[in-house]
Amino acid sequence: MDNTAAMTEAKRKDPGYRPVNERLKDYEAVERQLHDGDVTIQSSRCMECGTPFCHAYGCPLANVIPEFNDCVRRGQWREGLEILLSTNNFPEFTGRVCPAPCEAACVDGIYGDPVTIRQIELALIEKGFLNGYLSPLPPKKRFNKKVAVVGSGPAGLAVADTLNKGGYAVTVYESARRPGGILRYGIPDFKLEKWVVERRISLMREEGVLFETGVTVGEDLSYRFLKQRFDVLCMACGAGEARDLDIPGRNLTGIHFAMDYLCQQNRKVSGEAVPSSELIDAGGKNVLVIGGGDTGSDCVGTALRQGAKKVLQLEILPEPPLTRSASNPWPLWSQILRSTHAHEEGGERRWAVMTREFVGDQGRVTGVKCVEVNWPASEDGSAMGPVEKPGTQFEQAADLVVLAMGFTAPTRNRIVDDLGIQLDHRGNIQADRRGMTSMAGIFVAGDMTLGQSLVVKAIADGRRTAHGIMEFLGENKLL
Ligand SMILES: Cc1cc2nc3c(=O)[nH]c(=O)nc-3n(C[C@H](O)[C@H](O)[C@H](O)COP(=O)(O)OP(=O)(O)OC[C@H]3O[C@@H](n4cnc5c(N)ncnc54)[C@H](O)[C@@H]3O)c2cc1C
Repeated sequence: MDNTAAMTEAKRKDPGYRPVNERLKDYEAVERQLHDGDVTIQSSRCMECGTPFCHAYGCPLANVIPEFNDCVRRGQWREGLEILLSTNNFPEFTGRVCPAPCEAACVDGIYGDPVTIRQIELALIEKGFLNGYLSPLPPKKRFNKKVAVVGSGPAGLAVADTLNKGGYAVTVYESARRPGGILRYGIPDFKLEKWVVERRISLMREEGVLFETGVTVGEDLSYRFLKQRFDVLCMACGAGEARDLDIPGRNLTGIHFAMDYLCQQNRKVSGEAVPSSELIDAGGKNVLVIGGGDTGSDCVGTALRQGAKKVLQLEILPEPPLTRSASNPWPLWSQILRSTHAHEEGGERRWAVMTREFVGDQGRVTGVKCVEVNWPASEDGSAMGPVEKPGTQFEQAADLVVLAMGFTAPTRNRIVDDLGIQLDHRGNIQADRRGMTSMAGIFVAGDMTLGQSLVVKAIADGRRTAHGIMEFLGENKLL
């Protein structure tokens, strides 16, 4: 089938979202999925470029995008899925939550709209599950080599899945009640319903991966214990140290970190009990989310579903441009204004605002003193800010404040501290080419070494580290 017509005539089609008034009443997935017919037309828009920037530059997993697009276009879904799974352990996660750097690097996007690569990926994997192509496939042969993975976020899961498929015996230790890391306890259900995570964990269990939850490595289990039982240890504990806002009034009640807020709501949606003394609820409140990124927007969507009176999201940086600036050309990740579905649902955003002081009454936060700022450029073009704009001070009423300003360091871990494992210049765990730390036999993967990143990057790093572990064990150097 010739796809020249589709390349030139078919327009990009996105699946869109459920109506706002409907979706605000529940925590179910907001984004719809394209029907097969639309997916086929969208895959036909792929130009199979000689140099596929989507694959070679955009996608951290190096997904072989033109090839699986071509399979979908020809109706060869199973072959397309095999190509996708050859580089991505969990397309059902990236197909739902990836910001799709592949699409930012799609050649179609230079003068028009990129191919809907993320939706094609999602269609492939969901068809695979539906048609039973993903039935459990335990390895035919197992080596007598054991690996302990600490942390069950996307990085730890990718390490475990890759090694298990390679015939290694893998046990995943997770301090939370259920596996999945931020997929399970950070990203809200309206972006990623948790049955998607549970379906994958069940498949991995059936393929032989052992999961031990409610176990904090370094506290409940010592390095000595693990060393006696495993050949290799891989740390994939994430970057859980949230950036704080050290301004007067920070000790008032009613000010919470985003992860505490989001984690609690995810637990509630899953039916886990949350003691009433710990409840963080936005119902009927003026909510202020500090931090203009995706985590902040997840908090906006959550507060609106909880029935907040008003939600305001503040960002200290200036509002990004609507289109790429000259210094941000294709195929770089586009630094443009992005609005998520949470922004469609209500709430207000303000840019270039600095928070100076929390104010309160009887120990509870009631508002925040703020000021607008400028970001003047220096002679070399770099930003020299923020500089307060005279006369722009204002006080914003808030009886619930959520701090969503990113993460500064890897999740604290006694094994790292006690063994003196080396950090890099940014404070992340230092790793060599294979993902091995300064301690032979101890590896690291995901945000713990990358710093706060993305699901797709955590999976890519997990795969890299798994191959590094195989290389190490191949050399037969035991822990
Ligand atoms: C609220 C939020 C929303 C996000 N949304 C998106 C998104 O939409 N798209 C996207 O691409 N990225 C998103 N990200 C980023 C992405 O989720 C992370 O980059 C990714 O999850 C990192 O994976 P990881 O496996 O390295 O760590 P994590 O997912 O953080 O998992 C680490 C796991 O290790 C466990 N652990 C820690 N210490 C121990 C210990 N001592 N013993 C046992 N277990 C331990 C933790 O409990 C946790 O389960 C989001 C991040 C946040 C915070």
